[in-house]
Amino acid sequence: MTTPEILKDATAKAAHGADAELTKKVAGIIEDIEQRGEVAVRELSETFDNWAPESFRLSEAEIEQIVSGVDPQTLDDIRFAQQQIRTFAEAQLASMQPVEVETLPGVTLGHTHIPVQSVGAYVPGGRYPMVASAHMSVLTAKVAGVPRVAACTPPIGGEVPAETVAAMHLAGADEIYLLGGIQAVASLAVGTEFVDPVDFLVGPGNAFVAEAKRLLYGRVGIDLLAGPTETLLIADDTVDAEMCATDLLGQAEHGPTSPAVLVTTSRQLGLETIAEVDRQLETLPTADVASQAWADYGRVILCADNAEMLRVADDLAFEHVQVMTNDDDYFFNNMVNYGALFLGPMTNVSYGDKVIGTNHTLPTQKAARYTGGLWVGKFLKTCTYQRITNADSSAIIGEYCSRLCAIENFAGHKAQADIRVRRYGNGTADGAVADTGDVATEVTA
Ligand SMILES: [Zn+2]
Repeated sequence: MTTPEILKDATAKAAHGADAELTKKVAGIIEDIEQRGEVAVRELSETFDNWAPESFRLSEAEIEQIVSGVDPQTLDDIRFAQQQIRTFAEAQLASMQPVEVETLPGVTLGHTHIPVQSVGAYVPGGRYPMVASAHMSVLTAKVAGVPRVAACTPPIGGEVPAETVAAMHLAGADEIYLLGGIQAVASLAVGTEFVDPVDFLVGPGNAFVAEAKRLLYGRVGIDLLAGPTETLLIADDTVDAEMCATDLLGQAEHGPTSPAVLVTTSRQLGLETIAEVDRQLETLPTADVASQAWADYGRVILCADNAEMLRVADDLAFEHVQVMTNDDDYFFNNMVNYGALFLGPMTNVSYGDKVIGTNHTLPTQKAARYTGGLWVGKFLKTCTYQRITNADSSAIIGEYCSRLCAIENFAGHKAQADIRVRRYGNGTADGAVADTGDVATEVTA
């Protein structure tokens, strides 16, 4: 096995999740909100967002007014994006079929998909108004059939992010709150005077929001722990440096710790891309962020062939993987660790982020080794059921169950089986004498 050559290395180690200091701070804030409720939330909102409205929840009239103030072209664009996302989510939903099978005569086992009953959708603000996050979380939850979606987004510079509110409203949000950060996700999870608690929290956020979600997990479900955006380009000399540099910087602008990496079999493309990145940074309006991300986390890796690019890519397990090579299908058919694939130069990560229809909330920091991203299925619980309508089958299973319970000393479990053997069997089973063996105290089976 050859070793890839590093044409441009990162100077910083990939940012990785929470530190003890952050955990302590966020846990303290959550506890404060649990104890003091809205009073604590108001203090935090005033401190961090300079935001202290009479009500954090927008009324129907306020929402209508905000939406009517949004540029009609913008509303059209939001509707187009949401239609793409809805179409794909509905197709995915249709793939989630119930299952029912007769495993023995009269023995029916099945599963059914039940929507989570309430969802808190956090849409970040801060550096950018994340309009698209409203489609990804609110709309996808509504397509799944979630009856109650409470959406939260922070004010930006003391102003209402009108486009984000419009996107939430058009996506079908049942409640909209102008509230950000830890105070938003904690309010949704634990409930306060102004919002009922939810069952499931979704949506990206900064390090504080991500840590709050991690700490709240268990009390509520969460979609993912979102780290810095990652983008990987797998490219060869079928594309040029201008395209590669554009696609690297396009995602490096997410934040100063966002890794953008090019893996290539072309030394020339690699070197030209490094030069082209510097050239584009001279004019990119978000160069302050993107240049830092590129300097600290950007990499260009030269590989011998497609097989080596595949190994490197699977090892990175990045959130976004864009493939622009002489054999894109090779990567499509063989890659196993990625959040989402973007195949061919005609599409790109930005399409996925904003409009094309696949969900943009995706696994980061190698979570792609064990999960995909947010999708309609994440809002559905796959719940099993069983039924027996044949007495002989009940007795037969009961005899097996009785013996298996005896091995484990579960006397109560054994009795559940034995009574059925007695009632539904032919009277041949030993059901009269209870097992007197030791019984495990923790009954979990
Ligand atoms: Zn992006």
